[in-house]
Amino acid sequence: SVLDRINAVETKVQSYITVLGDEALKRAKEVQERIDKGEVKSLLAGIPMALKDNICTENVKTTCASKMLDNFIPPYDATVSKKLYNEDTVLLGKLNMDEFAMGASTENSYFKITRNPWDVERVAGGSSGGSAAAVAAGMAGFALGSDTGGSIRQPASFCGIVGMKPTYGAVSRFGLVAFASSMDQIGPLTKDVTDCAIVLNAITGHDPMDSTSANVKYPDYSKALINDVKGIRIGIPKEYIGDRTNPEVKKAVLDAAETLKELGALLEEVSLPLTWYAVPVYCIISSAEASSNLARYDGIKYGYRAEKYTDLLDLYIKSRSEGFGVEVKRRILLGTYALSSGYYDEYYKKALQVRTLIKNSFDEVFKKCDVLLGPTVPATAYKIGEKKEKPLEMYLGDIYTVSVNIAGLPALTVPCGFDANHLPIGMQLIGKPFDESTLLRVGYTFE
Ligand code: GLN
Repeated sequence: SVLDRINAVETKVQSYITVLGDEALKRAKEVQERIDKGEVKSLLAGIPMALKDNICTENVKTTCASKMLDNFIPPYDATVSKKLYNEDTVLLGKLNMDEFAMGASTENSYFKITRNPWDVERVAGGSSGGSAAAVAAGMAGFALGSDTGGSIRQPASFCGIVGMKPTYGAVSRFGLVAFASSMDQIGPLTKDVTDCAIVLNAITGHDPMDSTSANVKYPDYSKALINDVKGIRIGIPKEYIGDRTNPEVKKAVLDAAETLKELGALLEEVSLPLTWYAVPVYCIISSAEASSNLARYDGIKYGYRAEKYTDLLDLYIKSRSEGFGVEVKRRILLGTYALSSGYYDEYYKKALQVRTLIKNSFDEVFKKCDVLLGPTVPATAYKIGEKKEKPLEMYLGDIYTVSVNIAGLPALTVPCGFDANHLPIGMQLIGKPFDESTLLRVGYTFE
């Protein structure tokens, strides 16, 4: 029935790069047989799901929505792909995204623009726009995305679904095509908080294949799904509900806070004074890391190779000039500049220093609260094309999401209302490192 749904609405939404029709059906039948025989235990057994196209899948094309990897078929599975396979899920296909996860609208895909199922003239958000739109439109039971600066939470918010960016290190990055390695993290996009907990149970855990994977004890997240928020201390950062947030968004978020208060949570206004430095710090660090990570696409080892070239240098130049899109080139240029001798101290090193200060300011507020609550994005989904030529404006839309990645924290987006155009509004809950459970517990209130 999910394949039928894809047939019915995908032409309008454009969320998939690859759909595995017959293969998915075959796999579903196999799993069904084993379910019938009682051989399968996982709650996820038989659930049709899809993955963002920067998560490697053995023998299934993984393009990162780039011409550069248009024909790339990974010879191995990402750890998360393997884990979900072992849970007997059914892979439906691979989802559209901004090229190499750089963007906030899924307009930067080499293949197509994903549309918001609530209003197809509007963006689905990004960079995991395909993941969010597919789940919102009923074209996948759940999806995985990646979040370097908001790419799970922002599209989840625009599409009215639940999205979680786990603590840095909680989910293996092995097999995730790298954008900014110190901030990239894979996480679930789901219809509700219960599904989020179930998927999180399946994908978290230590992985020796990822040197930054955390070797800690991971809880059973479904235990957090209790209807009780009494005594939980919720901080509302005043910078998040000021003039830069659209009044309708602000009202929906504050109404949700009021509901939590009525149920016994303790609200307190807090301050994150470095909020306005987060986007510049993110831009420098993520671009610097991207410029290094994307150096591997040289037209030699794998990926796109220009047809005509005169010598080796010309091969590099032509392959990269033709293979990468405008936004990716912009980031490579910016990152290479920030890392170059003479500018390194002024930009990259400075950004790392401010990164530490931002992390410290979170540590400070978490001394007096258990979670932070605010909007995920300052406004709701905008029209396709509206910000395409205004990258700075688009970067500023990430103001409330990027500091979470800078500090390595977990954060959950849960729908909390609609604006006058009936577009979904999402609220964001930010937690202490490895305290996803408290986020799920608070988010579950709105289920
Ligand atoms: N929108 C942000 C950017 O353009 C975040 C992207 C992401 O989280 N992958 O970089």
